[in-house]
Amino acid sequence: MAIKRLLIANRGEIALRIHRAAREMGIETVAVHSTADADAMHVRLADHAVCIGPPAAKDSYLNVAAIIAAAEITHADAIHPGYGFLSENAQFAEIVEAHGLIWVGPKPEHIRTMGDKVEAKRSAGALGLPLVPGSDGAIEDFAEARDLAETIGYPVIIKAASGGGGRGMKVVNTAEELESQMGQARSEAKAAFGDATVYMEKYLGNPRHIEFQIFGDGKGEAVHLGERDCSLQRRHQKVLEEAPSPVITPEERDRMGGIVSKAMADMGYRGAGTIEFLWENGEFYFIEMNTRLQVEHPVTEAITGVDLVREQIRIADGQPLSFKQDEIEFKGHAIECRINAEDPWNFTPSPGQVTNYHAAGGMNVRVDSGLYTGYRIPPYYDSMIGKLIVSGRSRNGAIMRLKRALEEMVIDGVKTSIPLHQALLEDPEFQSGDYTIKWLEEWLAKRAS
Ligand code: ADP
Repeated sequence: MAIKRLLIANRGEIALRIHRAAREMGIETVAVHSTADADAMHVRLADHAVCIGPPAAKDSYLNVAAIIAAAEITHADAIHPGYGFLSENAQFAEIVEAHGLIWVGPKPEHIRTMGDKVEAKRSAGALGLPLVPGSDGAIEDFAEARDLAETIGYPVIIKAASGGGGRGMKVVNTAEELESQMGQARSEAKAAFGDATVYMEKYLGNPRHIEFQIFGDGKGEAVHLGERDCSLQRRHQKVLEEAPSPVITPEERDRMGGIVSKAMADMGYRGAGTIEFLWENGEFYFIEMNTRLQVEHPVTEAITGVDLVREQIRIADGQPLSFKQDEIEFKGHAIECRINAEDPWNFTPSPGQVTNYHAAGGMNVRVDSGLYTGYRIPPYYDSMIGKLIVSGRSRNGAIMRLKRALEEMVIDGVKTSIPLHQALLEDPEFQSGDYTIKWLEEWLAKRAS
């Protein structure tokens, strides 16, 4: 192993997750942290810790010069970016490599291509992935948009090429609305992302969100680790994820998994990646690719037994994939609840001191969280403070176990999303697996009225 000391350019539960994988591989860890995170669990556990700036992420976790300097003074030889922050910043990946450090992530050119949604769609199409019908690239003018919308049929969705996090999207229901909605999408995209480029897709009425986990060795080999169903979303943010999807058969998994892993092999993709699809009436439609580890990766780990972070580090180290496709077996069912420090019903953030903390335990229960009694959840970052992941032999078994585990969790002093998850698990439609990406918002609206 060339990697002896790994710098973790992230915070919270994912920094801890990466630290744990590294320690189990005999690799030393370097934590970087803002002044607000000096008492964080991953900082306490890491072999070395460097403060890289004040609380605001732009001055610390996004501060490229400070992170590179931290790697140099601690003699780290590799950087893992986690998710969010700099993880999908191709320029950061290039800077890391230019400093002679190992980047635990995909090739910078692939990060760049997949980060531009128009380019990503074009590459995905060329690699044989099924696309949502829509414009071939950016749409320049209104006449072109009008003709295209007539051809594919209303409703359509206008999306920002540089968009992300569910922002910069406008649904257009009729020809009359098209001009004004397209204008609005352009100006919002310009304001939010500094790029007014937009493209058009058919708007799917009621799909599920199904994504495939893949790994490539960067040299033409790739495998898939099955799918995750992330249809339970609020404002395009995932709330609860499961694997496998309740609607995908083993044959369909093999077929679609084969298509995505062949695409990644042809691309020469390196490391972990996720191909996201919308799924409606038995058809898959590519929407985007994430060139990093995902928040919801543990449900895949639970049903395959593969440590995804270990695999990322091995590949970055230049080693071959540690398994072949036919060695991957999918066993049982896993569900993850994202636990946020927020009001469970109106979603306002609830940072503050955790006065008492007790994590759930028992068979097939995993808690990924940096919380401890006395910890102060800082107000500057994402409200996710942990994840509870359980698995069982069947989906129903996993649901029963999750109810039991949620009952055991104690997080006092702040509000959390635990009551929301508990109510969700009691719903017969959730229990039957019959839900789409619109379901949770409708369910929340019904409860509120
Ligand atoms: P982002 O990168 O901003 O998250 P995505 O392209 O991944 O954008 O889309 C986010 C979400 O928006 C999807 O999970 C889905 O809920 C909705 N969405 C995107 N494209 C379509 C479409 N063509 N039809 C219906 N819903 C869509």
